[in-house]
Amino acid sequence: MNQDVEVAVVGAGPIGLAAALLLAKRVGIPPDRIAVLDRRIPAPVAIDSLPVDLRVFALSRASEKILRAADAWADVAAVRASPYERMQVWHADVPPHGGDALVFDAAEIGERDLGMIAENNVLQAALLAAARGAGLGLVEGELEALDRERGAMLLRTAGGRIRARLVIGADGSQSRVRELAGLFARRTDYGQLAIVAMVSTARPHQHTAWQRFLGDGTLAFLPLAGGLSSIVWSLPTARAEKLLTAAPSEFERQLEQDFDAALGAVRLESERLRFPLWRMSAENYVTERIALVGDAAHVVHPLAGQGANLGLLDAAALADVLGEAAGEDLGAERILRRYERWRRSENELMSAAIDAFDQLLARGSGRVAELAQRGMPWVGRSGLVKRAFIERAMGLAGELPAAAR
Ligand SMILES: Cc1cc2nc3c(=O)[nH]c(=O)nc-3n(C[C@H](O)[C@H](O)[C@H](O)COP(=O)(O)OP(=O)(O)OC[C@H]3O[C@@H](n4cnc5c(N)ncnc54)[C@H](O)[C@@H]3O)c2cc1C
Repeated sequence: MNQDVEVAVVGAGPIGLAAALLLAKRVGIPPDRIAVLDRRIPAPVAIDSLPVDLRVFALSRASEKILRAADAWADVAAVRASPYERMQVWHADVPPHGGDALVFDAAEIGERDLGMIAENNVLQAALLAAARGAGLGLVEGELEALDRERGAMLLRTAGGRIRARLVIGADGSQSRVRELAGLFARRTDYGQLAIVAMVSTARPHQHTAWQRFLGDGTLAFLPLAGGLSSIVWSLPTARAEKLLTAAPSEFERQLEQDFDAALGAVRLESERLRFPLWRMSAENYVTERIALVGDAAHVVHPLAGQGANLGLLDAAALADVLGEAAGEDLGAERILRRYERWRRSENELMSAAIDAFDQLLARGSGRVAELAQRGMPWVGRSGLVKRAFIERAMGLAGELPAAAR
């Protein structure tokens, strides 16, 4: 199949779909002039009949607003979404309920919650339904080649070609668009695996996102609808590998120990998923007629639950920049550079902060790490600094795109 469009988005993950929807709804590009290409486009489903997905996202308030602008939020919120009203963060050297635990409460800044936990497949299905409703072109196929033509790019798949004036690479951390465009990315391996699973706890989760810095990694308990919790347990690869195959009783014993039994006894309620962790940052997000968004441009450690949130801000920022350039050639590099300058600095800032958390609080030792650990209660006592932390976690700090305001 051959197509000629204004914009081709490669990747129908959450960020690619959100970008395509915002281009149609906020920039005014006709939906039939936008093509979203993915190696697999799931068939339409009844969203409330989706099976439970172990992969969940902590979605910030900014992401909620962006998903509203994309007409996908109502579906996300309707299926097992669970608000978290507080975050409790503490270090292995202090007791979970002692005065040194850092508690961020939505009520402190007059908000109803800090964000929402939503399942990956629900988010994906909600965005796909919105894309179908808006009449976007959804094309199944694997991007194989990307050729430059006069005033356009030619995308080739096994089944056909798409000619587009602008290509948005939303094809995830191993982005083929990034590779074919020759955009260099720096990658650092954390030497860690994240274990993701669903657990029940003896005491209720209190709609709190719990996070403990362990000394050799990080453990998060995210509150799910129905009372269960989703864990993200980031550990050195060797220890994580052992835990992935340990008997459930041994897994539960070590989990409870690492969590300092903050919610009492823990029971494993699902299989265990594994995710190798690395940090990646593309040196350039754009070149003539190509822009990268989401994990194609940057991958951060999951300890702060920010990857998809940052990607949604990329999508909304790109829509703002293209909206301001209405009537011009949207693939022009000088226009795309505005998006790069905006989002690369914001993402680098967040990525460096997350890295510092990992190095100093989660795995740090020595004098500097000790000082950082001692600084946590100080953050808790300083109203201004604490507010800045809450606003950053909710995605409400920095230069916000219109859809996130
Ligand atoms: C353990 C863990 C926990 C996390 N928790 C959170 C959290 O709480 N909050 C949060 O905000 N983020 C979280 N993240 C980060 C989040 O998962 C990612 O940032 C997000 O999924 C990236 O979405 P994306 O759309 O950019 O990429 P992807 O979801 O990877 O989508 C890429 C799409 O591109 C398609 N594709 C790839 N190559 C091609 C090709 N050649 N041709 C055609 N199609 C192609 C793929 O099929 C896929 O559909 C977590 C990550 C991990 C590992």
